[in-house]
Amino acid sequence: MLDSYGRRIDYLRISLTDKCNLRCSYCLPHGVKLVPMEDLLTLEEIAAIVRCGAGLGIDRIRLTGGEPLVRRGLPELMAMLQGIEGLKEVAMTTNGLLLRQYLPMLKERGLKSVNISLDTLDAEIYRQITGYDGLQEVLAAIDAALSAGLKVKVNAVLMAGINADSYKDLAGLAKAQPLDVRFIELMPIGEGRHFKGVSNEALLQDLERDFGRPERDDRIHGNGPARYYRIPGFQGSIGFISAMHRKFCGSCNRIRLTAMGELKPCLCYDTAVDLRTLLRTRGEAALPEAIRQAVARKPEAHCFETADHITEQRRMASIGG
Ligand code: SAM
Repeated sequence: MLDSYGRRIDYLRISLTDKCNLRCSYCLPHGVKLVPMEDLLTLEEIAAIVRCGAGLGIDRIRLTGGEPLVRRGLPELMAMLQGIEGLKEVAMTTNGLLLRQYLPMLKERGLKSVNISLDTLDAEIYRQITGYDGLQEVLAAIDAALSAGLKVKVNAVLMAGINADSYKDLAGLAKAQPLDVRFIELMPIGEGRHFKGVSNEALLQDLERDFGRPERDDRIHGNGPARYYRIPGFQGSIGFISAMHRKFCGSCNRIRLTAMGELKPCLCYDTAVDLRTLLRTRGEAALPEAIRQAVARKPEAHCFETADHITEQRRMASIGG
């Protein structure tokens, strides 16, 4: 599918649930009211949307959330997705806490790559950000995913005054292990509005000072907007997703399905097409037109740099970060 600016839309991110087993301060802090189960898309509804999307050229999807591994019935969903014609890739973004437990199932059902979110290697800062003592489990999950032959990327969000200094340890993961570490600039979405992010421009300079001159790495590392660099002596690359300081909307290929079934053409705006209601009132046959409609409504660019233009009020966990 081409949108009205000629961009090919072939990638769908799906929030399987707004629930999570962590309470990250900038994402889903304690006290947030979660959506009742009946308001979430059912597994069959998710599969129906993916099947229809695949027929329209959406050939890669990412399961996220909330935490995708806490969604009940995930093995059954993975099995349903495996059989969908035209779907070339199913990837996942997870906090890693339950990954070791589900790894054999995920591998068996076709998962080839996983993004693991980790914002610090300091156990105390990890607890401060997430509300839990989970650092060792996440590190073990990274090792296990690599040993299982999955392609692994570690995603980190840095915040001034909280974990900004963790960048060096995090980058060091790509030195010690064959994985990419990506720094995602904090976006003013949901709770993220209340924190100050770190500019990737400044971070690149810090990395150069600490590790030597990074060189641009133009090999394709995935479906996303990250710009990659290689540092001498590192096994993996360092990626930067600079939503705030280097807009990449011209090459945006994605749409997002919220846990409640709204299809969002852009993270920044509240524009969405309600696929859940459509499915429940008119059935699967109504989906292709609705998906095309959402793609046609994709704006030229996000507006994160102008905070008062952002219309999206949902949290990252329900949108699917
Ligand atoms: N629970 C899974 C995880 O932790 O990876 C998937 C969902 S989580 C919302 C996905 C990613 O969104 C995490 O890497 C998190 O750091 C990121 N995220 C959440 N809020 C953000 C924000 N305001 N700006 C940038 N990234 C954000």
